[in-house]
Amino acid sequence: ENDKKGDNPDRPPVRFKDVAGLEEVKEELVEIIDFINNPEKYYKMGAKIPKGILFYGPPGTGKTLLAQAIAGETNSAFFPASGAEFVEKYVGVGAKRVRTLFEKAKKDAPSVIFIDEIDAIGAKRSTESNNEKDQTLNQLLIEMDGFHSNQTVIVVGATNRLDLLDEALLRPGRFDRHMFIGNPDVRAREEILKVHIRNKPIDGKVDIKTLAKRTHGMSGAHLSNIANEAAILAVRNNKKVIGIEEFNQAIEKVMAGLQRKNAVVM
Ligand code: ATP
Repeated sequence: ENDKKGDNPDRPPVRFKDVAGLEEVKEELVEIIDFINNPEKYYKMGAKIPKGILFYGPPGTGKTLLAQAIAGETNSAFFPASGAEFVEKYVGVGAKRVRTLFEKAKKDAPSVIFIDEIDAIGAKRSTESNNEKDQTLNQLLIEMDGFHSNQTVIVVGATNRLDLLDEALLRPGRFDRHMFIGNPDVRAREEILKVHIRNKPIDGKVDIKTLAKRTHGMSGAHLSNIANEAAILAVRNNKKVIGIEEFNQAIEKVMAGLQRKNAVVM
């Protein structure tokens, strides 16, 4: 297996200030961050560090970003993975990948393992047996039960569908903290837009509050897209700063994409 990640773990430069909105979730995570930064304080009190956190909710809302921010705030190594990477035809291959991932993370502790689309390996087990899938999920459970208190490894899972997950994954000592990450409201949209125009020259006439009101139903990923599209349009239009016209066009473009997608669903 490719060992690059283990030799030189990822340290994304993401901090809490880069994640806009989601105030309640961030508040809850502050305690977990304190756990990772000051484990002795908790051990002395006989408290156990939580091992697994599950982020669930619609796509593009900041689940990956939050996991990166946990690593950034605790100076932890970051091990990203996707559930789909563990889905293999041959029995034992997925399980071995899970084992390798945890070995690397333990070696570099403190570390954060992030498993996106965890439902790909953690979906409810059906009655008809699927040896490969069951072994992979079992290995994940074994790893989560197995690490010791002196190894600070936090596993963050993300899914769009909490209801698909096998109950065994959600038990105490495994992914026992569940946090809903939803689409931003108007205030959060304003904050997210501000994060994404931070390093961009913006025309003083552009009112971010108005942009936030006009982007109802959009995720953080959509808003980040709008800021980027507007910047590209400003270059195309030979502007020195990004103006209202560029934002209007960018919103229209992203909105059209959103409506097309909804039309397909209906
Ligand atoms: P998926 O379920 O599709 O993996 P996700 O919830 O993990 O989505 P992210 O990858 O975290 O979504 O978000 C995609 C991008 O959208 C981020 O890199 C960031 O630029 C932007 N973004 C999303 N949410 C926020 C937020 N709350 N604050 C700032 N930027 C955000």
